[in-house]
Amino acid sequence: MLRRNDHKLYSPFFLYLRTKHKYKNIMSDESTTCPKCKSPYGYSNGSLLVCPECNHEWNPEEIAEEISSFVKVIKDANGNVLQDGDTVVTIKDLPVKGAPKAIKAGTKVKNIKLTDGDHNIDCKIDGFGAMALKSEFVKKA
Ligand SMILES: [Zn+2]
Repeated sequence: MLRRNDHKLYSPFFLYLRTKHKYKNIMSDESTTCPKCKSPYGYSNGSLLVCPECNHEWNPEEIAEEISSFVKVIKDANGNVLQDGDTVVTIKDLPVKGAPKAIKAGTKVKNIKLTDGDHNIDCKIDGFGAMALKSEFVKKA
């Protein structure tokens, strides 16, 4: 068990989350935004999109693939896919560094946030505060 670490905010996954919004915009307007210089005036030359400002050519489908490969699938102890906002239940007692007691098996954890790294669930637990859990020690409620 780890306390939440600020340096986690700089992990690739968080950087992805920060840029996800930007990518979403690219995808929703048919990828006409240049991935190189961010010019919104890309046009199609048939198979590729071309940027009139920096002459960069790109394939909008490749960008979509790149984005989906960023998205990590995090599963619980039973192999169910977890998502942000899910409620999970701990399946075993989890000792907490620096805390007088362990998080008991069966503790309900609401509104989880998936993160990168070893402890891939950020959450708040009553009596403990902000915590990072491992997905293999929880199951979807
Ligand atoms: Zn460009």
